[in-house]
Amino acid sequence: MDVDDVETIAVLGAGNMGHGIAEVAALAGFEVHMRDINEEFVQNGYDQIEWSLGKLAEKDQISETEADAALERVSAVVPVEDAVADADLIVEAVPEKMDIKKDVYADVEAHAPDHAVFASNTSSLSITELSEVTDRAERFCGMHFFNPPVRMQLVEVISGAHTDEETLSLVEDVAERMGKTPVRVRKDSPGFIVNRVLVPLMNEAAWLVHEGEATVEEVDSTTKYDLGLPMGSFELADQVGIDVGVHVLEYMHEVLGEAYEPCPLLTEKVENEDLGKKTGKGFYDYEDGGADVPSDAVSEDVKHALLAVMANEVAGLIGNDVADADAIDQAVKLGAGFPDGPAKMADSVGLDALLETLEERYEATDAERYAAVDYLRELVDAGEGFYGGGDDDDAVDFETIRIERDGKVGHIVLDRPHRMNTVSGEMLDELGVAIEDLDADDDVRAVLVTGEGDRAFSAGADVQSMAAGGGDPLHSVELSRKGQSTFGKFEAADVPVVAGIDGYCLGGGMEFATCADMRVASERSELGQPEHNLGLLPGWGGTQRLRHIVGEGRAKEIIFTADRYEAEEMADYGFLNEVVANDELDERAMELAKDLAAGPPVAQRYTKRAMLAGRDDTDAGLEIEAQAFGQLMNTDDLMEGVMAFMSNEEPEFEGK
Ligand code: NAD
Repeated sequence: MDVDDVETIAVLGAGNMGHGIAEVAALAGFEVHMRDINEEFVQNGYDQIEWSLGKLAEKDQISETEADAALERVSAVVPVEDAVADADLIVEAVPEKMDIKKDVYADVEAHAPDHAVFASNTSSLSITELSEVTDRAERFCGMHFFNPPVRMQLVEVISGAHTDEETLSLVEDVAERMGKTPVRVRKDSPGFIVNRVLVPLMNEAAWLVHEGEATVEEVDSTTKYDLGLPMGSFELADQVGIDVGVHVLEYMHEVLGEAYEPCPLLTEKVENEDLGKKTGKGFYDYEDGGADVPSDAVSEDVKHALLAVMANEVAGLIGNDVADADAIDQAVKLGAGFPDGPAKMADSVGLDALLETLEERYEATDAERYAAVDYLRELVDAGEGFYGGGDDDDAVDFETIRIERDGKVGHIVLDRPHRMNTVSGEMLDELGVAIEDLDADDDVRAVLVTGEGDRAFSAGADVQSMAAGGGDPLHSVELSRKGQSTFGKFEAADVPVVAGIDGYCLGGGMEFATCADMRVASERSELGQPEHNLGLLPGWGGTQRLRHIVGEGRAKEIIFTADRYEAEEMADYGFLNEVVANDELDERAMELAKDLAAGPPVAQRYTKRAMLAGRDDTDAGLEIEAQAFGQLMNTDDLMEGVMAFMSNEEPEFEGK
């Protein structure tokens, strides 16, 4: 079955998650049957969907017509057979109890069509065990949405021991159609990715206080203001519900062992029914102002303990082949709002230092939660981080770029002068590795990017490498995402990034330069987004990021006219910070990078994070951009545009 064959989705459970999932599915154009055990509950879920759609329309995120159409697509039912009889996909979101879920699946199996795929929204229960209640364990997987589904971008798609590849990719495609970002969890492991990182972190925070090593204020101050996480650990526990965290911990404790023993500080709160925000009191008192985390109570010891425990979890996940570092980082960033992924955070501190922290603590306390997992030791022995790159003397294996060092500046040179430094898939891969390496290196305090030769910074995407997918829209969506995320790494890097532009800076090249923090160009440079000339759109972030620099009006002008702009004009538009004489570019760009490298790294890091975090919902925009880019790859207009471009004629677009 293909995503296009999925017409009807049954959502079982109309509670917190069920009604949200039903809403998201209906918004994506699926017919939705939402079921609960009685009329009152299912009607309540339906009313909440109606309310939420109304809110989206009120905020102009969708039109009234779209809201009405989505609601039309939802039917609220009580008999199971009415919900599942014609369903192609069944998403279950009933209470988190193994026996309830097993009963539900046995019941559903009796009424669902043979071809239907089953997916559970469970936060922690075993997908394998659930799947075995059915006769279709290979067509059963986890589809873990985050709360609230309408707003949260992440969906963990979890493979059970019997799940087949077709099912996983179908459910990922459905998640994408819903506008979400699926992250694959390759093995059915307690807590999957996000909870496996977050919940032990919350437990460690509690142990630190329980053992008298730190106060709640110190832990939260450190989590929020030193690690830069969106909330303090205890603030988060209160927000999520301390009982919810304890429940997941108990399950991990049972399946994974002693290291996950819930801290008494947490279980006592649950016994006293101080569950957090929802009961008015948890670690903070919400009837008396709620969390007030001080910014000046940070502690190095707390930071190292938390990071060490987190790195150990990441190593456990990678070592057991549950997910790789990239997937873990993406999931935790999207699912928990971390500004950086946990693997990347651990690499920046150094895995050797974190292993040492674990060992010291293990020796002092004998507590299993500090027992380092084998994979962490292996990486440290090999001198590597989660992202590889142990021997940092030279990461010279690059084909399309060069890295040079000048003092504290890491200088990336786009090195394909024979093709005007156009961006190929390989270059994207190498740029991604390069910025991660440089960003993780304490000796690098700023990054400069320039193009080899004097013709181009980068003249855009390499058309040949774009053609590699044969115009296949799915390939193009992936290519778009890859460019978006690679360039995004420069935007999100902790160190300031300068683009030194000499010559053409067009299309993908300009989208790349857009992700730098400052841009300086030579007088002869020409910049622009020519994609519309080809019947395409800027698919590497251009529809989203440019407007943050030049404003939406100018961004539209640049993209819609597809014109080439002189450097001076781009400086007037605010895109270039400086324009210099042609022969002064190299020197001036390096001088600027060195100035920034001499700046205060922590202040720079947090300024970048704050400015990035304060933007609109760029991620949603990027997703639409990638999908549109994929669609356009298949149009006649693209062919017309490319042919006209090659023969130097005016294209005649027909809108097909
Ligand atoms: P909830 O209690 O709000 O909703 C569960 C609903 O299922 C209730 O309305 C209940 O009446 C209904 N139900 C019970 N038995 C049923 C049956 N046989 N058929 C159909 N409906 C039935 O719970 P929730 O927070 O929506 O959680 C549902 C699932 O989603 C759980 O597995 C949970 O772990 C998971 N989850 C929850 C969150 C969260 O933050 N709440 C996040 C991700 C995943």
